[in-house]
Amino acid sequence: MEKEIIKCLIIGSGPAGYTAAIYAARAGMSPILYQGGQPGGQLTITSEVENYPGYPKGINGPTMMIDFQAQAERFGTDIRYGMVTSVDFNTYPLKATIDESIEIEAYSIIIATGASAKWLGLPSEQRLNSHGVSACAVCDGYFYRGMDVAVVGGGDTAAEEASYLAKLCTKVHLLVRKGEMRASKFMQERVKNLPNVQIWWHTETEEVLGTNEVEAIRVRNTQTGQVSEIPVKGFFVAIGHQPNTSIFKGFLDMDDTGYIKTVAGTTKTNIEGVFAAGDAQDNVYRQAVTAAGTGCMAALDAERFLAIKGVH
Ligand code: NDP
Repeated sequence: MEKEIIKCLIIGSGPAGYTAAIYAARAGMSPILYQGGQPGGQLTITSEVENYPGYPKGINGPTMMIDFQAQAERFGTDIRYGMVTSVDFNTYPLKATIDESIEIEAYSIIIATGASAKWLGLPSEQRLNSHGVSACAVCDGYFYRGMDVAVVGGGDTAAEEASYLAKLCTKVHLLVRKGEMRASKFMQERVKNLPNVQIWWHTETEEVLGTNEVEAIRVRNTQTGQVSEIPVKGFFVAIGHQPNTSIFKGFLDMDDTGYIKTVAGTTKTNIEGVFAAGDAQDNVYRQAVTAAGTGCMAALDAERFLAIKGVH
């Protein structure tokens, strides 16, 4: 197996990873960044990004990530296509194996592996992704202002997405598969009291309809069997996210869902020299700009850690 020993390994290529790379490279840490299976991360499946400061006219998600990558490369980050397949944090330097063929020993590691939205698994949902199907109301809701949309899910995310969309859209259909919601009482009450939100109980989505963009959804009541078609322009899937952290299990402290726990106000994990940034450790804000912010923090935390360790 090929072996390398380096100062800083960054795992992940979303806003958190690339921002960490920009800072780490400028601080002389010669970072190597592995992009993972979806270079650019979740933003590459978004269309227009209008809430990232610095782009007054908005920017298309994939283009924005190409810009992030170019900026990280400009300062000398070694960006590589590859997946970290396993790690060993019981040893120092820390170890990571890439595609089961390269072993890296690193004096610091920044984890920026992000999270993935869960999807229903319908082929039509996949086909119309970014053409009316979205997993982020804050990112894409604005495009459907004055229109009818649907949100699927019964947790806090779905309640929050529905409440957010209710401010912009004419009508929000909230599709809940059971006869009750899992969301907190407060969030449930808020969404139930919104006059333009209609809750469909015991309702499953059978199909997202439309040729080039979403035109309607076909839903089925699981108790009566009744099938209905609801005309909507936007279909928001809010059935939870899964942080991409499974390879770190057993080494890092995580919550029940798998979000990495960090020391409050820092990006430090329970393992010295391992820092976590972006959605892998954030189930609350989950924005590109907050991910970039924590990526910056992780690089600064890693730089200070290496200085204390005497790694130059
Ligand atoms: P949850 O796992 O809490 O809820 C997922 C919801 O999606 C459930 O209602 C579930 O239904 C439903 N669901 C799952 N799969 C399907 C499917 N295939 N078809 C239809 N519905 C489906 O995820 P959330 O993202 O809502 O929340 C994750 C965590 O983040 C929670 O702890 C939550 O409290 C927290 N959070 C907090 C917020 C806040 O405090 N402001 C905001 C957002 C999230 P069922 O109940 O039937 O299983």
